[in-house]
Amino acid sequence: MNLSEKINNIQKTLPAGVRLVAVSKYHPASLIQEAYDAGQRIFGESHVQELVAKHDALPKDIEWHFIGHLQTNKVKYIAPFVSLIHAVDSERLLVEIDKQAKRCGRTIPVLLQVHVAKETTKFGFTPDELLNFMENGDWRQYTNIRFSGIMCMATNTDDEALIASEFEQAKTLFHRIKEKYFSDSDTFNECSWGMSGDYPIAIEHGSTLIRIGSMIFGERTY
Ligand SMILES: *Cc1c(COP(=O)(O)O)cnc(C)c1O
Repeated sequence: MNLSEKINNIQKTLPAGVRLVAVSKYHPASLIQEAYDAGQRIFGESHVQELVAKHDALPKDIEWHFIGHLQTNKVKYIAPFVSLIHAVDSERLLVEIDKQAKRCGRTIPVLLQVHVAKETTKFGFTPDELLNFMENGDWRQYTNIRFSGIMCMATNTDDEALIASEFEQAKTLFHRIKEKYFSDSDTFNECSWGMSGDYPIAIEHGSTLIRIGSMIFGERTY
């Protein structure tokens, strides 16, 4: 199967309201161009330098999503063009994103990362931390940030019931936050979960953005 067929095969299984983020990290610009020529417009990257180089080299109507852990001192490089930052998990990072967004005269959409997986090494707010963060209300001061939803990663396991329960937990949290803080606005709409190995489960549990890399581009060589 060629790249275009792989993308189309995924795209045609997606229900309305679910968008594909093609995760192109570690793959060359030429492959992204090939995916672009097949109609794909949203790409996800997790390294700032790589993202900046690809943004420079590739068509300007690509929607670039930053999906990895973002270091505060690197926000300035992607602030001028990034369409969505998926994995925001600290107040410090929000302060910097807001500052750099102001500098660029932009409002930058972000997702708050919630930790629902069993692994202890992953980043993100715990569900309780996230609820406290929302209740505390400090987030309202970030005038150049648009809070667009939440993101999570499930445990890396074959246990589909566990994966489903983690996505379901994230979905419940999303709805709670949406009802309590965004009921009168139309901005908090995105649930970013599901990767190559678990995206069908993610879609059953509320995902609106699936982040797929290896299934499209093949294995990454680091
Ligand atoms: C690399 C990565 C993906 C894509 O993973 P695949 O298993 O290759 O589909 C998705 N989300 C995040 C945060 C990633 O870092």
